[in-house]
Amino acid sequence: MTQLELAREGTISTQMSLVAENEGVEVELIRRGVAEGTIVIPANIRHTNLTPCGIGQGLKTKVNANIGTSSDFGNIDTELEKLRVATSCGTDTVMDLSTGGDISAIRRAIIASSSVPIGTVPIYQAGIEAVARRGAIVKMTVDDLFSVIEEHARDGVDFVTVHCGVTQSAVEQLKQQGRVADVVSRGGAFLIGWMLHNARENPLYEYFDRLLEIARQFDVTLSLGDGMRPGCLADATDRPQIEELLAIGKLVSKAQQAGVQVMVEGPGHLPLDQIEANVQLEKSICKGAPFYVLGPLVTDVAAGYDHITGAIGGAIAGAAGADFLCYVTPAEHLSLPDPEDVRQGVIASRIAAHAADIVKGVKGASEWDRKMAVARKKLDWEEQARLSLDPELAHHVHSKHATAGKACSMCGEYCAMELVEKYLGISAVRC
Ligand code: SF4
Repeated sequence: MTQLELAREGTISTQMSLVAENEGVEVELIRRGVAEGTIVIPANIRHTNLTPCGIGQGLKTKVNANIGTSSDFGNIDTELEKLRVATSCGTDTVMDLSTGGDISAIRRAIIASSSVPIGTVPIYQAGIEAVARRGAIVKMTVDDLFSVIEEHARDGVDFVTVHCGVTQSAVEQLKQQGRVADVVSRGGAFLIGWMLHNARENPLYEYFDRLLEIARQFDVTLSLGDGMRPGCLADATDRPQIEELLAIGKLVSKAQQAGVQVMVEGPGHLPLDQIEANVQLEKSICKGAPFYVLGPLVTDVAAGYDHITGAIGGAIAGAAGADFLCYVTPAEHLSLPDPEDVRQGVIASRIAAHAADIVKGVKGASEWDRKMAVARKKLDWEEQARLSLDPELAHHVHSKHATAGKACSMCGEYCAMELVEKYLGISAVRC
C-alpha cells in the first residue's frame, strides 16, 4: 500500500512517524495531511536507505537540489560529490537530471548513496534512448517511455517529474499566445516535439492510468511538471501556463483517487507581484496539493547571480504557501553547475525556505533566529557560527581579521553591542 492508502485507512506508517518526529508535530497531523493529499512523503518502497521527508501544508518549507550530468560534461564521481555537497548543506531532496554518460548507472549510484529522497525526470532518458535506438526523440514509442518510467520506479526513485498537463489543448494555446521564450522545460520540449510530429495526444496524459499503476506499485510520488512554465517575465501567467495547470488539477484528483501521492510543479520566471497569485491558483485548482516551485526567478537579467534571484522568489512563494523550493544555482542559464554552485544554490534556497517558515509560523523557525540574536548580543562567535546556515563560512569570515577585544573587526573598539552594555548596563542576560 502507498503512504496515501495507509493514511486513508487510518494507519500510521513508520515513515509518517519519522516525518512527525523531524517536524516536531503530532503524527496525526501528518497522517491527516497525507490522507487529504496536502502532504506527500516521497518514499519508494525500494529506496531502502531513505530517511523520509514530508512535503506540504503545515510543514517546514523544503529545498531540492538538482544534480546530474549533461551530454557535454559529467561523470558518476562528480555527481556523487555534488550529492555529498548538497546533503551536507542541508538539502531535503535531490533530483538526478542526468542526460549524459551511463544514465542508469549514475541514477543507481545516487540512490544507493542517498538517504534523502531522489527525484528524476524519466522523459530525458526516454528521449535520449530514442535518439540512440531509433534516430530521433519523435520516434520514441509509448512503450519506450513507460518502460523507462518503470525502470526508474524499480530502481527506487522516490518522485518523478511527469509533464502530464502538456496537452494538445495547451499546445494550441502556446501557438496562439506568441510567447517571447516559448518553452524552456526540457521535458516539455521533448513532449511537444513528439506530439506535433506524431499528431497525437501527450502519452503521459492519454495513458495516465498506466502511469498511476507504476506509481502505485512502488509508491512513487508524481510531481506533475510544468512543461509550459514561463521562461521569462514577459511570458508569466499566460494562457498556456494556466491551461496546463487546469489539466494538472484534474489529474491531481485522479491520482489521489488511485491512491497515488502527487504534488504540482510551478514557475519558473515570475515578477514579484505575480508570485502570490500563482500560489493561490495552484492551491485552489489542485485542491491544496503540495506546490513545488522552480525558483521562481524574479528577474531575467541576473545571470551569474540567479541563486539570489531564485531565493527572492522562493521566499515570497514560500511565505504565500508554496511547500517545496527547487534551488537555482549561480550557473543557471550559463553552464552545468559544479559542486561549489550546488553549495551556493542549496544555501540560498535554504535561506528562502527559512525566511518563509518564520512567517508561516512553522514550529521552531522564529526560535532559531532568536537564539542567533542572543548569541550576537553576547558576542559568542562559536555559537553564532553553529547557528548559521553555513557554519563553516561564518567561522571563516569572522576569523579573517584578528581583533584586540571580543568584538569583531567591523567596528572594533566601537562595537555597539559592547558600548551599550558598558554604559547602559543592558546585557544579553535578559534575552
Ligand atoms: S563590532 Fe560591530 S559588527 Fe561586530 S559585533 Fe560589535 S556591533 Fe556587531
